[in-house]
Amino acid sequence: MTQANRDGVALLVRHGLRVTRPRLEVLRAFDAHDTLTGEDVYRLLAGAASGISMATIYRVLAELAGARILDRHVLGRGPSVFALHRSGHSVHLACRRCGFVEACDDEHASAALAMVAASRGFVTAEARVVVQGVCIACAASPDEDVVS
Ligand SMILES: [Zn+2]
Repeated sequence: MTQANRDGVALLVRHGLRVTRPRLEVLRAFDAHDTLTGEDVYRLLAGAASGISMATIYRVLAELAGARILDRHVLGRGPSVFALHRSGHSVHLACRRCGFVEACDDEHASAALAMVAASRGFVTAEARVVVQGVCIACAASPDEDVVS
């Protein structure tokens, strides 16, 4: 068993989920990627060759999100984007044109979010912030209309 699989097993057990191959495979897809859609996961698992159907992947993503192993981000009209759950504050940058999503670990943003929560008396607070805009690559090709 690889280290990644051991980590996946430990994660599932800690969250009270049964260890299954589809769950481990889906988790493994997040080893090298901050954020993924269901289709991204399907493609990374080599599509039909993995023997794991698209429907199974969406069910597993929903289960992992339900167990708070993953966070689900709904960005406009695009597909849900999933990321490994982070405790504390998380900030994601999302491109409205191409759907690119990037996790942004910025200590200033985290400090600002913690301050806003504390100023309202929130003792333990988590923030999930999605900043929507246009990524560098899309900004460099201004011909296409921005999808809003
Ligand atoms: Zn873009």
